[in-house]
Amino acid sequence: MTVGTGDGTPYADAIQAPGTAESIWRAWGGWEGMAEFPLPPRGRVVVVAAHPDDEVLGLGGALARLADAGHRLTVVSVTDGEGSHPDSEVLSPHELAEVRAGEIRTALERLGTGDPEIVRLRLPDSHVCDHEKQLREALVPLCSGAVLVAAPWTADLHSDHEATGRSAREAARAVGAPFAEYPVWLWHWARPDDPRVPWDRAARVTLAAGIQARKRHAVDAFASQIRPLGPGPAEAAILPPDEVAHHLRPCEVVFL
Ligand SMILES: [Zn+2]
Repeated sequence: MTVGTGDGTPYADAIQAPGTAESIWRAWGGWEGMAEFPLPPRGRVVVVAAHPDDEVLGLGGALARLADAGHRLTVVSVTDGEGSHPDSEVLSPHELAEVRAGEIRTALERLGTGDPEIVRLRLPDSHVCDHEKQLREALVPLCSGAVLVAAPWTADLHSDHEATGRSAREAARAVGAPFAEYPVWLWHWARPDDPRVPWDRAARVTLAAGIQARKRHAVDAFASQIRPLGPGPAEAAILPPDEVAHHLRPCEVVFL
């Protein structure tokens, strides 16, 4: 989940400020009243990601469960996430794009999703909002016939996530496919009961221990994001352990 948000957006502060500790989320009473998300009838599920790791961080356990239930998966990488380390002296943006394309394949293998269709749309990282019409048009045929389309939450306070969510929602609507949004950065910038979050639309996907273990193994495939590329601040990990912890809890959340 590339941090780069483009210059001058109001999003950078929310993401770069210190985040909410996972222990605070774990202690939250709101989990108790949250409905369980009913998995769709067997068919093809399309999961759209702004960057190649959003879908596993936000929804990897659900993807493992769907694969176990016999669903076919189409995974759409809107960007290659080539902008996560813009000043790196270790990897160029082009090299990083290929590294990350390899990481998502490994992560999906580790989740046990079989042989999913992976579609790379190669829109520019941090600038998805400049290409929403193009994205929507690319997503419409991919979403056609899907029993579920899932995409980043349209209020995740990351411009790429929000633009991807908006485009996917419109594409799903155009073909009459059910749609769900998954948050990624929410767990960092929000607090329990945060009024900016539509908790009344939230549903949880409970993950059994075996599914959690597969997700943990999958998330560990994103070496370029969870470990430094090298010494120096330009090579720092995008997702240090306290961020990764949000995505290793025993449930995931979607907004319906
Ligand atoms: Zn992302």
